[in-house]
Amino acid sequence: MTPRPKAEAKARRQLERTVGRKLPATLHCSFCGKSQLEVEKLIAGPTVFICNECVAMCNDVIADRPVPAAGYTKPLERSTEQLLSLIGSVNYAADASRDFLQSIVDTLRQREVSWAAIAEPLGVSRQSAWERFS
Ligand SMILES: [Zn+2]
Repeated sequence: MTPRPKAEAKARRQLERTVGRKLPATLHCSFCGKSQLEVEKLIAGPTVFICNECVAMCNDVIADRPVPAAGYTKPLERSTEQLLSLIGSVNYAADASRDFLQSIVDTLRQREVSWAAIAEPLGVSRQSAWERFS
């Protein structure tokens, strides 16, 4: 990865403001689990990240080109050090996704959408949705 400390620091501050949550020191691709130090580029979404290698693989899938299985490491087969490094990114994504889900529910409730309508796509009872999100 080409070091671009100023650009990265700016992007981090912007994302932290948007999501309202501090980013872990090292970020990882949400698809392959590689750290930002292992890839050329890591692109941020609201709660997930994707590396240039996974983007290239996605482009192959979209273009109906064969995707080589070699080179793909199952996340849990990584070394202990790599898994320890990955924990911060996965925790960030889980917390940020939960916050985003709560924001969606809050917005729907502000629009006076019923708990029953919110519960249905979640596959839970109206009571469960209310207990979880109110
Ligand atoms: Zn990746």
